[in-house]
Parts: sequence; C-alpha cells; structure tokens
Amino acid sequence: MKNIAYFTMEIAPTLISDDYSKDFRTYSGGLGVLAGDYFKQATDESRPITFISILWKNGYNKQEIKDGNVIDVVNSNDNWRSYVTDTSKTIMVKIEDFDLTLKIWKFNNGELYMLDADLDCNYDYRYLTYNLYGGNEKFENQAEKERICQEIILGIGGLYALQALDKDISFYHFNDGHAIFAVHRLIREYIERGISFNDAINMVKKVVRFTTHTNVASGNEKHDIAALMRYSANCGLDYRMLENIGGEPYGMTVAALHVSGKVNAVAKVHSKAANILWKYITDAPEIFPITNGVHLPTWQYNDIAEAYKNKDINEISRLHFTHKKDLIDFIYYKNGIKLDKNSLLIGFARRATDYKRWDLFAKIPEALDYVIKAFNVQFVFAGKCHKMDYLGRKYIQNIYELSRKYPNNIVFIEGYDINIAKKLEGGSDIWLNTPNGLEASGTSGMKAAANGCINFSTLDGWWKEACFHGINGFEIHIHDEIQDSNERDIRDCQSLMYYLNNEILPMYINNKDAWKNMMYESIYTVDNYFNTKRMISEYFEKLYI
Ligand SMILES: *Cc1c(COP(=O)(O)O)cnc(C)c1O
Repeated sequence: MKNIAYFTMEIAPTLISDDYSKDFRTYSGGLGVLAGDYFKQATDESRPITFISILWKNGYNKQEIKDGNVIDVVNSNDNWRSYVTDTSKTIMVKIEDFDLTLKIWKFNNGELYMLDADLDCNYDYRYLTYNLYGGNEKFENQAEKERICQEIILGIGGLYALQALDKDISFYHFNDGHAIFAVHRLIREYIERGISFNDAINMVKKVVRFTTHTNVASGNEKHDIAALMRYSANCGLDYRMLENIGGEPYGMTVAALHVSGKVNAVAKVHSKAANILWKYITDAPEIFPITNGVHLPTWQYNDIAEAYKNKDINEISRLHFTHKKDLIDFIYYKNGIKLDKNSLLIGFARRATDYKRWDLFAKIPEALDYVIKAFNVQFVFAGKCHKMDYLGRKYIQNIYELSRKYPNNIVFIEGYDINIAKKLEGGSDIWLNTPNGLEASGTSGMKAAANGCINFSTLDGWWKEACFHGINGFEIHIHDEIQDSNERDIRDCQSLMYYLNNEILPMYINNKDAWKNMMYESIYTVDNYFNTKRMISEYFEKLYI
C-alpha cells in the first residue's frame, strides 16, 4: 500500500456549521479550503493519507471596513480545543540554536495532525504558531524570521511528527512550497548514509510530489540563503547545496521543482501557464494538470442534492429560491440592506488581488448604471486581500464606494469565510468571475454550480474546461490580444455587459424553463467531474506513482 504524507500550511477541515460564530480558523483562503476538501474526501474513502498542518491559535486576519478603509483585525481561533485530541506526543525541532518543542494534536475526524508551539518551555517562540503567514506583534520587525520559522515547523517538524507517529511514508506531497525545507532533512539523512548530494537529490525525487498553485511570479516566496542558515532551515546542508536546490535567493517553488519527481498544477490552463513560467528550470519535470474539485457533502446543500438525484428541475429551482431568500435575510442581518428576491442576484467572492479584477463589472459606469436602473440587477461581494496587497485593498475600497452609490444594488459583506462562502454560492443566481488568465482553478465557481447557481466567467481556471456556453453557464471573452490593460479591461467589460443584457437577463426574466435546465446542467457539471472524488483518484493514479 502507498502511504502518503500531505503537508499544508493551512487547512479548513470541518464541515460547515449553521452557527456562524463557530469556525475552526486554521486557514486563510483557497489553498486551505482545497486542502480541507481533499482531507474530507480522503477521510470519506479511508485513503492512506496522513495530513500534516499547524494548529494556528489566531488563524488568519479578519478584515473590516471602517470609514471606507480596509482594516485588519486579529481573528482568534477560540474554539480550537473542541476540534482536536491530544496525542500526548511531542517532537523537537531546531530554530536558530533553540530546541523548540512541538506538541502534536490530532483533528477529531480523520488523519490530520497539527503542530503547536504554544508551550511555556518555548518562551517567545511559542508565538510562532499563532498567526498563519506571520504578523504576530512579537515578531513585528522580523516578519521574515517568523515566516521561515513557521516553515521549519511545518516541513522539518512535520517529518519528525510522522516518525513519532510511526508512519511509514511512500510519498511526501507538498501543497505549495511552504514545507519544502523537509527535503533538506531527507537529503541530510541520505548523505549521512554515505550517499553523494547528487544521488541524494535523485533519491528524494522518487518520493517527493508537489502541487503548484500560483502563477503570479511575485506570489512565489524567496529568502536569502543566509537567512535560511541563520534560522537552521538547512538541516546541516551547506550554502552550495541550498543554492543547488533553491537558487539564491532561495525560491520555495524553485526548490520544490528541483526536488520533486512529479509536479501538478490545478487546472489545464493553469498547467500551461506554469510550464511557461518555470521553463528556465530545465531539470524540473513537466507540470501536468489535475484539475481541482470540491467536496460535495461540504458545499452542496442536502436538499439540492436530493432534488438533483430525482432529476426534479422544478424542485431544484424552488429550493434554490429558498436559499436565495436565506442569503437575502443574512445580508439584511449583516448590512441592514434588504435585497429584492425577484431580481437577478449576482455573487462574487474571492481574494482581492490584481488578476482577479474585482471591478471589471464597473469599468463602463454607464453600462453598470443601465443594468441597475433597468433591471434592478444586484451584486453581492465578499472577500479579503493580503495584508500587504495595496492594490487588493484598493479593489475592496472601490466596491465599498460603489455600494454607497448604489446601496440597494451593490453590497459588500465583511468577514469572508467558509460559512459566508456557502451562503453566497448557494443563494446567488449568477456566479461572476473575471480573472485575466492567471487564475489557478477558481473552486468557488464549482461550489456555486453544485447548488444550481449559474457561472458567468472568463474562460480561465476550471471554467475553461467546464464551460458549454448557453448550456451550463456563460462565458466572458478575454481580449488578451490587446496590449493596453485598461483598454483590454474595457473590452472584457463590454463582453460581460453584452451577455448580461442579451442572454442572461432575457432568460432569467422570460424563459424560466431554460434557466432551470441550466441550473440542472450546472449541478451535473460538478457532480460528474469537478469534485474531490474524481480529483483524489487522479492523485493516486497520476501523482503518487
Ligand atoms: C472556495 C473558497 C476559496 C477559493 O475560491 P476561489 O474561487 O479560488 O477564489 C477561497 N476562500 C473561501 C472561504 C472559499 O470557501
């Protein structure tokens, strides 16, 4: 039997509860939600995968809008104790010259082990597992140190945890590059057995597998080798060896590409872009696609699943309308705005970052004004940006400005998390996504489709594979032949408005039967292919070999 160890910096391993105050906040966004969906699928099928992550005491920051500005606030993970059991095992890992003790917790439902440094014996290092991706005030001026140490905990600590748990592992699978320092420890073990560095790399390739996520060059983390040596991320390997693995500065993705025998991207177009981005790493394997999926028991409402099984399109439509009304009540509770249940409701929720083009729908103000005044079209937004992403912050602030101009038609919901995601995906009529070609996968569209919410998106990420225009959703053209990005955005917005006015609104208003068929086809698309059941079998057939 092949035993897999899956390392992930963040994970959302729970099912979604109706209690919005409860959430196991050990994730920030898409990467962690995907890891969680994969974990739940593995658990459902009793697959031999051991998941390794960190028990974050604060999770990721929460964002609020105050006086039109986006503010980051601490998001404490107060309920963490109720989700995990003490294995009573600890391990030690070296950070600088300090022997850091890590406690191993087990998540209650499944083979997920979470490392925790929050112990008296660790002094100020105990804060290392407080804030996902750093940002604890204790390390205010040493953000890089905090991040590197967190990655030592996950990667090197994770390897020691597997040993402490007596796991015999056939493949180490890294979900993005955060845990890649583990490989330094694996290489070190080979070298200690008298094997040369080059042979050790080749042996490591037999057991290391990697999933790459971001194709935005700046999103791929780098560190000076001196910093890695200073904090003991090198496990005794010397400067030249680290340079061979990750370059100088040492790139986490570059390192992963150098030491992995097989590498996958998360959608077909994504793998194409990844192969171009990383072409210069000549000894990296070809990056092939395993398109993401979603865990249906998490994301699809039970009543919708039942009606779909009975092929009852009227019932699907009726139930979807009840979820739309729930969403409208929820928005009223959060924002004090009552949307109209009989007008088209367009949902949009994702990280706010440049390539996702949050304000594409508003690029032509007169066109936006027209659909709002003529058809009462309603747009609901949710999402966060990275703390340091000033452009992302600007996007959210722009939406907030628009919501003040059109208070009954444009809404921004604060505090995006998996609960809000499900409400929005389950209750919107249309799911809008407008990336410019750099999307990884875009799983929120799958969650929407699984509930009969119809996708309307540029042909990027999963939608490039899934879209049959006019059958299971609608496309928006990307005019990537146009060099000037502002002009391109305006053309893409024209395409958006064209389909909205000429296909979506006429069908929504006048052709309910066609709309219901499209809802059914949306659910079929996810039920048939874009789910974690198909995804996990592909991982076993194509990556773990
Ligand atoms: C599904 C999900 C994501 C990822 O969705 P994208 O379409 O890739 O942006 C991010 N955050 C949350 C809370 C999610 O549920």
